[in-house]
Amino acid sequence: MSYEKPLPTITPANRPFWDSVKAHKMQLPKCKKCNKFHAPPREFCPHCLSEEFEWKAVSGRGEVYSFAVMHQSYNKAFDKDVPYNYAVVQLDEGPRLVSNVLGPNDQIRVGEKVEVVYDDVTPEITLHRFKRV
Ligand SMILES: [Zn+2]
Repeated sequence: MSYEKPLPTITPANRPFWDSVKAHKMQLPKCKKCNKFHAPPREFCPHCLSEEFEWKAVSGRGEVYSFAVMHQSYNKAFDKDVPYNYAVVQLDEGPRLVSNVLGPNDQIRVGEKVEVVYDDVTPEITLHRFKRV
């Protein structure tokens, strides 16, 4: 069965991120000048505009920063998932990632601790989701 939902667009700037997620060992760019991580990956540091950073492993742990529960489907591929959640998770290292929190929607709380799980949705793409800890 093929995966019908939208997939990330891989670019030179974000390829190391998606490769690390596929390997189940998430990495994000860490600035060599200000020493902060950032997400989503881009060609320069959003904190200090430096173009010098290195890819470093992150813990995959964090907390729910914000979330919404979608009660309508805006894409046929999501019809059977309604209601589903859309969450922003702030990693312990600071960056925020858009994702989903697994489990019942009515139990999600802002500030609750979560950790990454890896969902191999196609042979090429793995998505990061979060579970409660
Ligand atoms: Zn920086």
